[in-house]
Amino acid sequence: MLGQQWRRIVIKVGSALIAPENKGCSTRYLLAIARFISECRQRGIEVILVSSGSVAAGRSAIAFSHQPVPVHIKQAMASVGQYQMMQRWQSLLDCHCGQLLLTHDDFHNRRRYLNIENTLRTLLSHQVLPIINENDSVATAELKLGDNDNLAALVATAVDANVLIICSDIDGLFSANPRSNPAARFIAEVDCISPEIFAMAGGSHHSVGTGGMVTKLQAAQKASQQGIDTLIVNGQKPAVFEALLQGKAAGTLFHRQQERISAKKHWLLHSLKAQGTLRLDAGAVTALQHQGASLLAKGITAVQGQFEKGDAVLLCDQHGQPVAKGTSQFHASELHQIKGLHSQQITAQLGYCGREEVVHRDDLVLLSASEAAAQSAG
Ligand code: GLU
Repeated sequence: MLGQQWRRIVIKVGSALIAPENKGCSTRYLLAIARFISECRQRGIEVILVSSGSVAAGRSAIAFSHQPVPVHIKQAMASVGQYQMMQRWQSLLDCHCGQLLLTHDDFHNRRRYLNIENTLRTLLSHQVLPIINENDSVATAELKLGDNDNLAALVATAVDANVLIICSDIDGLFSANPRSNPAARFIAEVDCISPEIFAMAGGSHHSVGTGGMVTKLQAAQKASQQGIDTLIVNGQKPAVFEALLQGKAAGTLFHRQQERISAKKHWLLHSLKAQGTLRLDAGAVTALQHQGASLLAKGITAVQGQFEKGDAVLLCDQHGQPVAKGTSQFHASELHQIKGLHSQQITAQLGYCGREEVVHRDDLVLLSASEAAAQSAG
């Protein structure tokens, strides 16, 4: 898959490469990455860059020494750092760069999602390099995508890329955390992102960026389900980029799956964040999994979280294991009142006539074991 077959690639660069050691924006690792981007473009490959690091790059400009750093201070840091980071990329690249700052809402709302697609396609058709980050200065915690690994996968899907390259400060996926376990084995290729693969990632987190290996696996899963090959590479090593340009292997390659899942299922699974959880009885789980049924209030035993009508919720079995995800037709407070009731009793309980299904079959996706693991980790 390397080199020759690349048509459109999304490259995600992590904060640890943009602002190593939190001392503002640095060219240390970006030079080799910029050279790689230029070379790809020279060869006619379209490139979209997802660049983290606004908060890390702006950290030195805003004096604040206490931990944890509150949200409004991070937002101020991001405002300074985003600008510096864009300047840095522009100074390293000969082409025009265009900035897109996105929030979770932009992916949640179908119309805005289509706008993202259109803007990116237009930029690419004019040979502009789109540089994307989350809009960290305005996104509040509940509206955040949270990490740019997942953002990059959503972008790769939106622009129909065929390769996603996640540049990190680690060589790729290991069987355990190599920083704490010397016996950790490097994994060069992954065909299927199983729960065992997620287990390898453990809770590895980085001190500079937001994501860890878990968010990279979530991104690889999202992308590979859309027919996109995903690479996790060490962006600190220029040799990695030279190897890729020569069509040689580097990092961990997650092979694309042959079958693409439907756009709606993908949107439900990956663009919508679950705002709550519904615990179901065994009968409801069987009906969902084996009878193609919708979820009725009768099968709900517990309701967790604050969610509105239309928000996504995870549907879990008696043991708390997620089995499906879908959009609720009721507000959380309504579900507290009607859980366990037969459909005929709902109107009497609420005082008005609601929908019969709590989650309609058309607005629901069943989760495989690995998708359930990704949703729980998220
Ligand atoms: N959007 C954040 C930033 O630019 C980083 C998120 C991440 O590290 O994945 O600072």
